[in-house]
Amino acid sequence: MKRTKVIDLLKATEFGKNVEVKGWVRTKRGSKAVNFIALNDGSTIKNVQIVVDVANFDENVLKQVTTGACIAVEGVLKESQGSEQSVEIQCVKIEVLGPAGDDYPLQKKGHTMEFLREHANIRMRTNTFGAVMRIRHNMAMAIHTFFHENGFFYLNTPIITASDAEGAGQMFQVTTLDLNNLPKNEDGKPDYSQDFFGSQTNLTVSGQLEGELGATALGAIYTFGPTFRAENSNTPRHLAEFWMVEPEIAFYDLNDLMDLEEKFIKYCVRWALDNCKDDLEFLNKMIDKTLIERLNHVVNESFVRLPYTEGIKILEEAIKNGKKFEFPISWGVDLASEHERYLVEEHFKKPVIMIDYPKEIKAFYMKMNADNKTVQGTDVLFPAIGEIIGGSVREESYQKLENRINELNINIDSYNWYMETRKWGSCPHAGFGLGFERLILFVTGMQNIRDVIPFPRTPKNAAF
Ligand code: ATP
Ligand code: MN
Repeated sequence: MKRTKVIDLLKATEFGKNVEVKGWVRTKRGSKAVNFIALNDGSTIKNVQIVVDVANFDENVLKQVTTGACIAVEGVLKESQGSEQSVEIQCVKIEVLGPAGDDYPLQKKGHTMEFLREHANIRMRTNTFGAVMRIRHNMAMAIHTFFHENGFFYLNTPIITASDAEGAGQMFQVTTLDLNNLPKNEDGKPDYSQDFFGSQTNLTVSGQLEGELGATALGAIYTFGPTFRAENSNTPRHLAEFWMVEPEIAFYDLNDLMDLEEKFIKYCVRWALDNCKDDLEFLNKMIDKTLIERLNHVVNESFVRLPYTEGIKILEEAIKNGKKFEFPISWGVDLASEHERYLVEEHFKKPVIMIDYPKEIKAFYMKMNADNKTVQGTDVLFPAIGEIIGGSVREESYQKLENRINELNINIDSYNWYMETRKWGSCPHAGFGLGFERLILFVTGMQNIRDVIPFPRTPKNAAF
């Protein structure tokens, strides 16, 4: 018999036929005469109920049907008598494909997130992580669909790179040199000419620079791939390995960029509301009671567009009126997440796109404003998350870009290929980077970024 997925069984309106279902036992309860098994196969957060007349089955088989066991069931699909579900299966045959053993770590009682992180090999079997991973898949589909429908091409940029995109973060070095017997130059430094690529290489911190090459040929591209930062930042918002979505578009100015950022995020959140209803309702009940309300709010509100200088004024005003922040604030400093969250959650009560940052706190490639002090960077700030997107208009003038690189004492030699684009048919262009896991955090209401990726990589942790 062909197996039917639980998600399809629960939609059935024809009863009385035989079906087969396979999955993992969530619970078994009942009396000496009748057992009720709640079976989940991951296709949906909902379980299907299996009704077992104990007398018809081998006692030793039923004994193995415990929480966590994997079973195959054949039976008759029936309209359920109980109020909790629409259908149930009157069991005819049970096969235990994989017993759960005595040490199966998940029990019916709730487990802490910390406990589940230590059992990341099994945590996707829980309702919460099942919901998060189905939503994560849906967000990936939303992203590809959005860009495809809007004429963007999916461009795969390299994961191993010899350049340091903007110095966006600390990098992981990639090498095949023998660390126990390192070949060295005369000056005592490692001799990278003997390394695999003949130069020092790292895992990428951003696909942007290569993305710009795509945009200035194909018009509009996006990357969606793994990104690595060796920052020792043990926060609920940072991973050492995360996924980034980076669209880059020719002929875009600052307003075009902000329009895209807003339209794109709203599309993704709307997708979740439309396609992940059961999972969202579960998370709304169990994780965060204001989740769905917050998602609707973001879809329906216009984002505030706020120059950095005005943002600073608002924060200084708030301090005058008694608001306390841990970190000091004045024109020129980078906002801390407490400042971002004040603006978003308390002052405006809406997402904020902050623009026109002091050049000193942003990367070299951002387009300079006429004031020669601020650059056309955009950070999209979200409730509960803080920065979800960082983007900018790129400096397209060779001269201005070179000046900025010299000002910052960056070694221009490693950017030759990038600088050449500013000589060969340069054009205005812009783009942004969205941290995929930050989006998943927002859409699921989860509190810690370690819990929205299947197997998190953080300082001192690469288990599983
Ligand atoms: P933050 O200030 O939050 O550390 P950033 O300004 O260093 O981030 P960008 O270089 O602007 O980050 O990267 C673009 C986006 O990638 C960010 O807006 C964020 O959503 C995401 N991001 C950056 N660093 C991380 C990280 N370590 N883990 C997960 N997502 C990240
Ligand atoms: Mn940023």
